[in-house]
Amino acid sequence: MSSTYSNITVLIVEDEQKIAQILVDFLSLDGFKTRVLHDGADAVDVIKSGEVDFAILDLMLPHKDGLTICKEVRQFSTIPILMLTARVEEIDRLIGLEFGADDYVCKPFSAREVVARVKTIIRRIETEPQNKESVMTYKHVQLNINRFKCYSANVEIDLTPVEFRLLHSLLKRPGVVHSRDNLMQLCYSDDRIVSARTIDSHIKNIRAKLAVDEINGELIHAIYGVGYKME
Ligand code: CA
Repeated sequence: MSSTYSNITVLIVEDEQKIAQILVDFLSLDGFKTRVLHDGADAVDVIKSGEVDFAILDLMLPHKDGLTICKEVRQFSTIPILMLTARVEEIDRLIGLEFGADDYVCKPFSAREVVARVKTIIRRIETEPQNKESVMTYKHVQLNINRFKCYSANVEIDLTPVEFRLLHSLLKRPGVVHSRDNLMQLCYSDDRIVSARTIDSHIKNIRAKLAVDEINGELIHAIYGVGYKME
């Protein structure tokens, strides 16, 4: 019975050791393997190493909080992320575009509830038709979100992580105008101050990289005084 989940290692990033241990115990009952970190410092590196398949992140953590971890991880991985939070007001942002968590559980919670949520997310991912969410196409541009690859007229294009996120944001909602501020928030995981000019220069680079021939014209349009849209 427990063998179903035995190939899944869940990373638990939780500074309250008691809570972390309860989660370990309950997840182990269902066969999950677990790994625990008590602060946020190394979480991104552990996920990047590919040694874990699922991440449970507490929101408030020493050294690096759960939101920052989530946002950084989403720059390179679609690993399922379940957030633990006592801050209800954050929920919309957590699950939405901005941070990209898969689900959340509010504290205080029962460990059973958390395990049930983990299983639901895994089931959802397993039953999702392959490539359904992961490949986006608009005109001659194709993004493979899971693999972080971009194609223009079927030729692979090398984009930086920031360029990829920018293009992804625009491509998700063709025709919708994004302000530079909005794009900056979506594209930078830290609170680095970047000027609007930075976005402009990224857009310039993306345009140059995507350009295949004259016939296609511009895909990314500047809207004077506002920002950019893809159309
Ligand atoms: Ca905490």
